[in-house]
Amino acid sequence: MSSVAEGGCICGAIRYRVTGKPTNSMVCHCQTCRRVAASPVVAWVTFPTAQFQLLQGHPTAFHTSQPVRRTFCAACGTPLTYEHGDSVGFVDVTTCSLDDPESFPPTHHSWLSHDLAWVRFGDCLPTFQEWRHEPAG
Ligand SMILES: [Zn+2]
Ligand SMILES: [Zn+2]
Repeated sequence: MSSVAEGGCICGAIRYRVTGKPTNSMVCHCQTCRRVAASPVVAWVTFPTAQFQLLQGHPTAFHTSQPVRRTFCAACGTPLTYEHGDSVGFVDVTTCSLDDPESFPPTHHSWLSHDLAWVRFGDCLPTFQEWRHEPAG
């Protein structure tokens, strides 16, 4: 299935397009995403970088740690992307900056070890204390 979806920030300065199927879709409970978005959790969808295309505007980038580069709209503040130095070739896009987040439902929750006590989902999706790809056992 070849699909095209677009998204952008709330003020409209930045627009982007993603094509094809995401390689991952999850809700992150980590303290860094929480602070960056000032939100209890942040949902992300992952695409190969080649399937992410900026259509309009220039996101501002900063690093929350040495390998992690995040972008946002400097005009309105909407968080847009996340890239990790260990995952070259992939970009995470904030699910809720897409025009139709319903098209990208998450499959799991990550970083429950950082979770706020008052966050309760009840969606029955798998949860992981850290990253999903943590070593088995
Ligand atoms: Zn904006
Ligand atoms: Zn996170």
